[in-house]
Amino acid sequence: MPSKDTPADGAAAALAVRAYIGIGANLGDAKTTVEAAFGALETLPGTWVVERSSLFRTAPMDAGGDDYVNAVAAIDTTLSAAALLDALQAIENRHGRVRPYPNAPRTLDLDILLYGQQTVQTPLLTIPHPRLSQRAFALIPLLQIAPMITIPGEGPAHGFAPAVALQVIQRIAA
Ligand code: ADP
Ligand code: MG
Repeated sequence: MPSKDTPADGAAAALAVRAYIGIGANLGDAKTTVEAAFGALETLPGTWVVERSSLFRTAPMDAGGDDYVNAVAAIDTTLSAAALLDALQAIENRHGRVRPYPNAPRTLDLDILLYGQQTVQTPLLTIPHPRLSQRAFALIPLLQIAPMITIPGEGPAHGFAPAVALQVIQRIAA
């Protein structure tokens, strides 16, 4: 028996929200960590990974340190946006995430890029993620798995691709 129902199997399907999670790592074995993050997302309650982007390599922005490995996951989740943030931070912490200063190198960073077509503005959470449309490391993997997606309040995500075209991003794995 599978450990949990697929969304198509139950009432959860009707309640689930399609969300997009930005995954980034630039400390330790970043590629392995990003791959593990997809698995960790799948273990969250009421959450199913429905699409995985390729893995990409990008240079750090506004910071030093090693190159990042980035990816985006599409999930269906019955968690609220706030509960999802808590769950993502618990995964980050399990991977030894510390926050010594802004933009510090990180073993694992999990950001909520989109949560359905909802906008959220609280002290802890801004959705859509404020830098989504300006950062190739988030936008390009998102467009790979959701080419027609709209960023609420901003417009079609693909419309921002030209603006990030000078940011170097290299696909490193399927
Ligand atoms: P970064 O902004 O570089 O990803 P952190 O991962 O340390 O930095 O996140 C700092 C804070 O950003 C988190 O504690 C969280 O409350 C807040 N935050 C606001 N909006 C979001 C979002 N959409 N996804 C993830 N974290 C967010
Ligand atoms: Mg973050």
